[in-house]
Amino acid sequence: MLAPPGGGKGTQGIRLAEHLGVEHISSGDLLRAAVAEQTPLGREVDGYLLAGELAPDELVTEAVRPILRSRENYVLDGFPRRLAQAEGVFFDVVVFLDVPHEVVKRRLLARGRADDAPEVIENRLREYEEDTRPLVDHYRAEGVLLHVDGDRPQDEIAAELREKLGHDR
Ligand code: AMP
Repeated sequence: MLAPPGGGKGTQGIRLAEHLGVEHISSGDLLRAAVAEQTPLGREVDGYLLAGELAPDELVTEAVRPILRSRENYVLDGFPRRLAQAEGVFFDVVVFLDVPHEVVKRRLLARGRADDAPEVIENRLREYEEDTRPLVDHYRAEGVLLHVDGDRPQDEIAAELREKLGHDR
């Protein structure tokens, strides 16, 4: 699931995983759990999350890769977030939820998570444009990109994803 912050990758990823009967894996959830449990990884990434900056590639990659390796099927949300993280991982489909910046900004402010403060949101959107957005072209070139209009009611988006990715497609 590839989307700007607040683009709905969590919400739609969970719904899709449920429909497909596979696990939903979120790098953000994983890192937040590490912070909450104050593991060594959590202590290292805490500041990045608070500032709305991407955590270092090696740390995130080391945390996520073993989980992917031990599973066959999953919906992955939040990883990769940089081209460097995309090396050596391959996906059947990369869903790009396309949502305009003004809309995600409004959604993030309404959500109110710790890293949803106005100045932090700006950082996260900038990081998205600079670092994550290039992955859209990368996966389009690989022929696995599914471009979805993410500025629609949740149920409509979920139905489109089920139709295009469900067992019954
Ligand atoms: P998310 O829940 O996907 O919005 O992620 C929340 C925060 O976790 C991000 O703002 C980053 O600080 C960090 N994060 C999550 N996934 C990654 C990743 N793949 N690479 C670097 N940082 C990440």
